[in-house]
Amino acid sequence: MASQEIETLASALARLPGLGPRSARRAVLWLVKRREQALPQLLDALEAVRDTLVECEICGNVDTRNPCAICADPRRDAKAICVVEEVADLWALDRSRLFTGTYHVLGGRLSALDGVRPEDLNIAALLARVEQGGVDEVVLAMNATLEGQTTAHYIAERLEDFPLRITQLAHGLPVGGELDYLDEGTLAQALRARRPLG
Ligand SMILES: [Zn+2]
Repeated sequence: MASQEIETLASALARLPGLGPRSARRAVLWLVKRREQALPQLLDALEAVRDTLVECEICGNVDTRNPCAICADPRRDAKAICVVEEVADLWALDRSRLFTGTYHVLGGRLSALDGVRPEDLNIAALLARVEQGGVDEVVLAMNATLEGQTTAHYIAERLEDFPLRITQLAHGLPVGGELDYLDEGTLAQALRARRPLG
């Protein structure tokens, strides 16, 4: 039976996505063994994140500045917006370095099952960005899941009266595939071969 402190840390870690109680305990043991080197680093990193991370008020990215580094970069093409479900998808796509436009993070996907409605997602802000004008392409980069595609079609409908090109990532994305888990080559290919939403 581990001490209360260790139990508390393990159960906090177990709440992280991808970590169950067993991996959380392994992580705690790993940290205990390396408390001289790894623990201070981890504490510093956590503290830095707590003190500096903000959500970009334009696109919903998470960064240490607001607007985020992508929105604030004058070399970025503000005429193209790539819409993604989660910040992790934005990061995955941006690692491919192929998209030179800006992003918009929805914060999820429509889901009847989980009761996620359009007003629960960051869709109004996307429409407001488009209404301001100057956008000529919206790339719908939802995951290749049923809910992702439902979300893409919903957004395409909301955008249909605007004079812009609506494209989506090429299929070639594995069905059920989550962007975050794809390698950069596959992502780059899907982005390069993007096509009108049909
Ligand atoms: Zn931003």
